[in-house]
Amino acid sequence: MSDYLLDEARSRFGTSVLYPYQRLVAGTILDACNGSEEHARNLVAVLPTGGGKSLCFQLPAAILDAPTLIVYPLLSLISDQERRMRAAGLSVAVFRAGQTGAEREAIVQECRRQELDAVLASPEVLDSSFGRTAVQRCGFGLAVVDEAHCVTEWGQSFRESYMALGEHLESVPVVAAFTATASESTLISLNEILFLGHKAHRIVANPDRPELRYTVIPVSSVLRSLEHGFQTASVCPRPDYAHVHKPRDAFQLPAIVFCRTRSETERIARHLYAHTGIKDIRYYHAGLPVSQRAATEQWFFNAERAVLCATCAYGMGVDKKDVRTVIHTRPPATIEAYVQEAGRAGRDKQAASAVLLLPVRSREGAVTGQDDPRLQNLIDGNSCRRESILNAFGARSEGCAGCDVCAGYLQTEAECTAEIRALHSVYGSEMAVKIARGDFMRYPELACLPGFGSLSGWTTMHLSEAFSVKT
Ligand SMILES: [Zn+2]
Repeated sequence: MSDYLLDEARSRFGTSVLYPYQRLVAGTILDACNGSEEHARNLVAVLPTGGGKSLCFQLPAAILDAPTLIVYPLLSLISDQERRMRAAGLSVAVFRAGQTGAEREAIVQECRRQELDAVLASPEVLDSSFGRTAVQRCGFGLAVVDEAHCVTEWGQSFRESYMALGEHLESVPVVAAFTATASESTLISLNEILFLGHKAHRIVANPDRPELRYTVIPVSSVLRSLEHGFQTASVCPRPDYAHVHKPRDAFQLPAIVFCRTRSETERIARHLYAHTGIKDIRYYHAGLPVSQRAATEQWFFNAERAVLCATCAYGMGVDKKDVRTVIHTRPPATIEAYVQEAGRAGRDKQAASAVLLLPVRSREGAVTGQDDPRLQNLIDGNSCRRESILNAFGARSEGCAGCDVCAGYLQTEAECTAEIRALHSVYGSEMAVKIARGDFMRYPELACLPGFGSLSGWTTMHLSEAFSVKT
């Protein structure tokens, strides 16, 4: 029996295998465009990151006669997709800011003659006086909104054009939204904004990533734990995967360290460069010039044994498949953000680790994920981490492929918590650092005090972190 979709995927995109959900989504879109799946004219596909999502709409775009409109949130994504689709032999055009009226009119005419497979655009271009009429005149058969969680995450704050996207796409017969992570509340607001409250057909792939091993580690000093993990990695390039997922074991490379602030990415990158054997370390955040960001993305994409310290600005649209470890220096704001960022590891389907560090401060106790109770649930460690994640996305766990709770190496306390608390209560932060460090040459007069040198294996920087001293 011939396999039409697979034949098309093979001849155009060189893909020899279609995942079941790729087949389901691409097939449903094609049926909806041909009028046989009325209910799927509004479609939401929730697919895990790194699972070949783009093919689900590029394949219909290639097959359909009418052109497809594809909306991306970022210009970098548009350029990247334009290049990839051209490489696959699709005829593609882009509505960009700064084009002349004649250039844009030429694209509209090509669409009307059905000479184009796809037109790529940002929501802002479509929200202009040109965009509003262009969508109707082009005669699109299908509109795709990729990274659709941005509609709800960004639309209400600084991307107002997203709020109008639903209206602009109303004349397109089939609209499909794609997203990697979407909780029920996100999906409901997506429905309102993009489909103007009309019912949407939903295809949800299992969000589980069995290749990821989740670990949450309370730490007294983030720098100390990172140093430890990466030092071991630098002397021990590829230990057997069966042993890598215990908290104190090496962080496998390549690795991403997700930091909360721009300055933290720089500070941690410099620190690891100076204190581990790894020299392939760089930082990435939205404050860097575009050219430097592009160069760093390219460098990391090709790197085999590197560490990238990044804010959440890194990642969208970057498909580096062999990241072995993703570390968070503290919990992000939401479980969606955590799953999205942790999901950058193991896209090659090989075992990979997601390590969430939980800084414990001598004064306040552990930093928690209290802004998001679902993330707090994951952090509490009362049940399987994977189950907590799947519950948050309304899915059921079918057995855990590995997390610290299930594997029995749950660590509930940061190292030396008792000593640190005791020293802090007696001496206060700054004095406690001196006492714990026990530098006799500098502070001989303190040597007689209890606890002097009790954490002499820690550097002053580690201790300052542990005792919450500003450096
Ligand atoms: Zn588990």
